[in-house]
Amino acid sequence: MKYISTRNKTVSISPSEAIIQGISKDGGLFVPSILPKVDDLDTCMNMNYKELAYMIMSKFFTDFESKELEDCIDKAYDNKFSTNKIVPIVKVEDVFFLELFHGPTFAFKDMALSILPYLLKTAMKIRDTHKEIVILTATSGDTGKAALEGFANVEGIKIIVFYPENGVSEIQKRQMITQEGDNTFVVGINGNFDDAQKGVKDIFNDKEFVNYLDKNNYILSSANSINIGRLIPQIVYYFYGYLTLLQQGHIEKNEKVNITVPTGNFGNILAAYYAKKMGLPVNMLICASNENNILSDFFNTGIYDRRRELILTSSPSMDILISSNLERLLFHLSGERDKMIEEKMNQLSCQGYYKMENLNIKDFYGSFSTEKEVSAIINKIFKKNNYLIDPHTAVAYNVYEKYKMETKDTTKTIIASTASPFKFGSKVAAAIGMDIEGKDQFSILEDMGTNANIAVPQAIKTLKHKKILHDNNCNIEDMEQMVKMFLKVGGTND
Ligand SMILES: *Cc1c(COP(=O)(O)O)cnc(C)c1O
Repeated sequence: MKYISTRNKTVSISPSEAIIQGISKDGGLFVPSILPKVDDLDTCMNMNYKELAYMIMSKFFTDFESKELEDCIDKAYDNKFSTNKIVPIVKVEDVFFLELFHGPTFAFKDMALSILPYLLKTAMKIRDTHKEIVILTATSGDTGKAALEGFANVEGIKIIVFYPENGVSEIQKRQMITQEGDNTFVVGINGNFDDAQKGVKDIFNDKEFVNYLDKNNYILSSANSINIGRLIPQIVYYFYGYLTLLQQGHIEKNEKVNITVPTGNFGNILAAYYAKKMGLPVNMLICASNENNILSDFFNTGIYDRRRELILTSSPSMDILISSNLERLLFHLSGERDKMIEEKMNQLSCQGYYKMENLNIKDFYGSFSTEKEVSAIINKIFKKNNYLIDPHTAVAYNVYEKYKMETKDTTKTIIASTASPFKFGSKVAAAIGMDIEGKDQFSILEDMGTNANIAVPQAIKTLKHKKILHDNNCNIEDMEQMVKMFLKVGGTND
């Protein structure tokens, strides 16, 4: 298995190199040169999560020895997940919620970020790299904490997280700024997620700076979904969810399902697309946006146009206008036309939009939810079924309802449930009609838990008394300076 760049497919590197590098030097993203097939789902029927993870990941991380990969998987999917199923499925009315939030930080980002540190350490061993790795991460709220949790106190690795100072939920922010571990550094930026993501990409592309760090024995890598070490582990749970439905008799062998994914950076839904291409019986991939409906517009018009204001919504992890991973889908769908992709991406950064001609996007349906619809859905599902969902998952459910109305399609549908409702307590509590006026975040969560008859997760409760360890803030143009400060490398290259 090789990984090739979406902007120059003659760039072809091994899995371990791709994990370490994160992003290609030409600015492109690495994609698998082929998508391996899973021919016989029957043989996977009785696999547990770890076994299935091995079956899938071993097809992608081919330069890992089997013992090494097994070891990574063993350490990742252990009792830091609150259920030994790792990913349970809950049937509510006619849909199946694939609960991806039972990891240590209560969002689906844990699914990949609990394994990425081990993949990276192993990749360094395979490449015989002795430099120190610096993980640079932009976060819209959930990646940051999940990456910090995964990388804290990992020897040979430092991690720096940039989050939009005013663009994350209170709990998300607290989770990050109370992070322990000498190798962690958390910075709020005066800007939104797109600014943070662009700032990080610019640092990666600043050759002089990268060389300078190299001389100081550091290499940069990424924990964002541009890293294939994050993307590939996300394929596993779509197979797992399908197999669970099969096992429980909800579907029959080879029966197709729809998959609905609340989408921001297009990583999670791209993993579902990969699963489909690998042979998972999937009918429609339903791409759900919040009021930042740039992807929904794209699927309906073929035009990707970021010339609009970013809106701060109650689903902050999807408040994104530049969905990085869409580049990968376009590369695949266009028949790997790398030069064309490069042109479109340059056009996006210079002119703010591009149009794709003759693209076959029949696998995808795109629509979006307004804030009002999100509240109404959370309320409706809770009142009817006593089941609480978070605002991201509510976006997905609402878009699924629109899809069903429009198409009359009755194919069974999996909804990626991406975060615990407790991570977005105020919004969820207000949506189910609780009076939250003047109450503090933690008492709201307690009341909400009582209301829904579920316990507030311990790790969220303890946030209340945790010491704030990171109070850094900077402007977008000073991100590089912050990196230097943390790494204690002087200003000799300025
Ligand atoms: C990151 C995130 C999303 C969006 O996932 P992408 O892979 O960026 O599309 C949706 N919901 C939650 C809770 C998230 O943390």
